[in-house]
Amino acid sequence: MTKHVYSFGGDRNEGNATMRNLLGGKGCNLAEMACLDIPVPPGFTVTTEVCTLYYKEGKKLPQSVKDQVLEALKVLETARGKKLGDEKNPLLVSVRSGARVSMPGMMDTVLNLGLNDKTVEGLASASGNPRFAYDSYRRFLMMYSDVVLGVHKDHFEHKIEALKAKTGKALDTEISAEEWKGLCTEFKVIVKEKLGREFPQDPIEQLFGGIQAVFDSWDTERAIIYRKMNRIPDEWGTAVNVQTMVFGNMGDDCGTGVAFTRDTGTGEPYFYGEYLINAQGEDVVAGTRTPQPITKYQAADSGLKSLEEVMPEVFKTLLATCNRLEAHFKDMQDLEFTIEQGKLYMLQTRIGKRTAVAGIRIAMDLVKEKMIDEKTALLRLNADDLVQLLAPIFNQKEKDAFKKAGKLMTKGLNAGPGAATGVIALSAEEAEVLAAKGPVVLVRIETSPEDLAGMVAANGILTARGGMTSHAAVVARGMGKPCVCGASALNIDVKKRTVSVGGIVLNAGTDFISIDGSTGEVFAGQLAASPAEVNQVVVDKTLKGEDSETYKRFAQIMEWSNNYRTMNVRTNADTPNDADVAKAFGAEGIGLCRTEHMFFEGERIIAFREMILSKDLEGRKAALKKLLPIQRTDFEGIFTAMNGLPVTIRLIDPPLHEFVPHDERGQAEMAKVIGVSLEEVKSRVEKLHEFNPMMGHRGCRLGITYPEIIRMQMRAIVEAAINVGKKGIVAKPEVMVPLVGHVKELAYTKGEMLDELAAINKEQGTTFSCPIGTMIEIPRAAITADEVATEAEFFSFGTNDLTQMGFGFSRDDSGTFLPEYVAKKILEDDPFQSLDQKGIGGLVRIAVEKGRSTRPNIKLGVCGEHGGDPRSVKFFHGVGLNYVSCSPYRVPIAIVAAAQAALESAK
Ligand code: PEP
Ligand code: MG
Repeated sequence: MTKHVYSFGGDRNEGNATMRNLLGGKGCNLAEMACLDIPVPPGFTVTTEVCTLYYKEGKKLPQSVKDQVLEALKVLETARGKKLGDEKNPLLVSVRSGARVSMPGMMDTVLNLGLNDKTVEGLASASGNPRFAYDSYRRFLMMYSDVVLGVHKDHFEHKIEALKAKTGKALDTEISAEEWKGLCTEFKVIVKEKLGREFPQDPIEQLFGGIQAVFDSWDTERAIIYRKMNRIPDEWGTAVNVQTMVFGNMGDDCGTGVAFTRDTGTGEPYFYGEYLINAQGEDVVAGTRTPQPITKYQAADSGLKSLEEVMPEVFKTLLATCNRLEAHFKDMQDLEFTIEQGKLYMLQTRIGKRTAVAGIRIAMDLVKEKMIDEKTALLRLNADDLVQLLAPIFNQKEKDAFKKAGKLMTKGLNAGPGAATGVIALSAEEAEVLAAKGPVVLVRIETSPEDLAGMVAANGILTARGGMTSHAAVVARGMGKPCVCGASALNIDVKKRTVSVGGIVLNAGTDFISIDGSTGEVFAGQLAASPAEVNQVVVDKTLKGEDSETYKRFAQIMEWSNNYRTMNVRTNADTPNDADVAKAFGAEGIGLCRTEHMFFEGERIIAFREMILSKDLEGRKAALKKLLPIQRTDFEGIFTAMNGLPVTIRLIDPPLHEFVPHDERGQAEMAKVIGVSLEEVKSRVEKLHEFNPMMGHRGCRLGITYPEIIRMQMRAIVEAAINVGKKGIVAKPEVMVPLVGHVKELAYTKGEMLDELAAINKEQGTTFSCPIGTMIEIPRAAITADEVATEAEFFSFGTNDLTQMGFGFSRDDSGTFLPEYVAKKILEDDPFQSLDQKGIGGLVRIAVEKGRSTRPNIKLGVCGEHGGDPRSVKFFHGVGLNYVSCSPYRVPIAIVAAAQAALESAK
């Protein structure tokens, strides 16, 4: 019989940290802590497999699961000497979710389960504390009704608010046993009114209701969005942990809190957290009471009392336990704890979510501390996260000017680093709507899991309430979004649709607000952002590397990655400036120089249009003559920037009609330049019009009909190389023919190129030569790559077009339907962003194999957008490409991904 339920803690501990897939992160780590003799309230875990089973059976718990739950409960009851539902000495449990990877705040929890009208009395007399008993009961009634029965918690919150207003009491802790008891009665009335039935009094019914509710919460919209964002497969399911309650709300020697072993925002190695005396877990994250700092260091100058001062012994044990767990799991831990009558219990430990900046710092510090080696550190990084290291920050000078102008509204907690500016949205829905038009900052009193879609849409998140571990803070950090929370001076008026502090009043929907998630500052208006420190060192050279800790870490990661990767990383660049940036980031050459981009600027476009609109060969040749020196100078600039590194230059690709003027003013201008009538220009432009330009007269087809273009480009390349060579610069062009589908297209084009090359060598008395290759971006070329390779000295996979032609999805128009494909799970990702490894990747595989069969040493690279996508990079490593090429700012990402690919395949 399949085992569905595993006990942990107490006398029967059946799991450990290796069983994450089955027991979920929370469950397996609770068992692991129990193995380490760390005090954990005992309980049991219903496996993730049951979640899948539950959905398969139409949202029903199979009898075998129920039987095993009851059996595990019996073991628990025996160990605790208490029984669920016992009227004298009741056992209470929590029911909590726990997926394989943590999804903070996404799924449901029920605490204090097992209470009913009778057991609450038992709890009151067993504990000698009726206030605690009724406080627990009202919490349970509210949570269970909200999570399991679907009666929204607001109905109950209103009653609490009304009671506080009536009695003049501000804090939950001031409310008496009798008052809570009265509220419990009112709460049950609400349930009866809303559902037409009584609140369930049978603890076993409550238990199974709780378990089912946790499984149901796997499929809520917010959980689905979160999974999609974090690429968590739906079929993983969540486990359910049923755990003996320990009480943080029994009095002033009790409390509950969260702790982190390192700073989740910056990665600094300092222990911190938040706690509340006489409270239960949800109070800390709900933002209803402001949590207190754990350490004296955190509390400095705040006037708040730290746990270190209030309960020094408990603090010492907590610190030692947290450090032990970090050393055990070899990573930063995010922990939950409860103190019951002076005794510390750990409720959870998990690898803490962190920002990209923190992730890098932590990984590197752990190497320094000899906890992990550099390979492990590299594999732990999320290559895409490097984007955040390169993301803009606010310019200090501008910030100072804003401050002087009185635009600093307030300062909140620096919960998620980075700079964000945008129009104010006051709700998640508004954020989604406004984000379609421009940048948005979501401004809320506090966020809740329902706000997730709005948080995804916003550039940054600002809240008036809540601490560093509030929902907004945790989720924003996970998303890598700038976040300022607990900005309590903010006055958010949802009715008037304003956000104000003192005399500064901003209107939602129109006015901009700027938040600095690294300092907590909130500014009225739109602050311009400036380059990240790494960019200031690498690109702008306005900051010295030794003066930037972030840069030093970045450089270290690059160095490690370079030690392990086997694939080269090149860049797609069309200008010397782009080439310089990419080289500074570590690019080892240019993998794609799109020469048509060089024709768009200033006077060039006129000469180019002249060439296209000429009636005959003579006219075209005359126009090309004007273009030759321009293009030659461009190539000289690029060769100089890349001195000694390979530069793959692609002959002109897009259709001619893209270059001609479509407005009458432009057409009249061209008529004048070439000395023909406006009508003639119009008719020529019309002739160039194509219904399907992406599959039309572009790529090598242009050169086949107008060989003089190829010849001009070849001449510009070769003469530029010879010219710079005379100045001691080593130019290494590799010339590439686009959109080849048939080997003879390449053979013809190559013939023209070689002819021109021979002519130049003859003129100049040189012996220059360079490799000639092709893009593989048409399925036919991939399938016949053995033939194509007889002519091509290298292949560069154009996976943008290969995806377009392989799927038959237009690159220009697929945006209208592809999101639906992803939403409906027909495709896992947009194939233009992350390579479709099976289909389009299959074509790449075939071409690699066939290409090598006729030319074993053929050089293979990729220059489509996928060259900068970590998952695709790993695929390209797997099929044995020599290099990937991507845009300059993605070079570091490709470098790390290439190193990870090499390390993963060596495992
Ligand atoms: C490609 O098709 O992948 C490619 C790199 O070329 P372009 O995007 O210029 O068509
Ligand atoms: Mg292409």
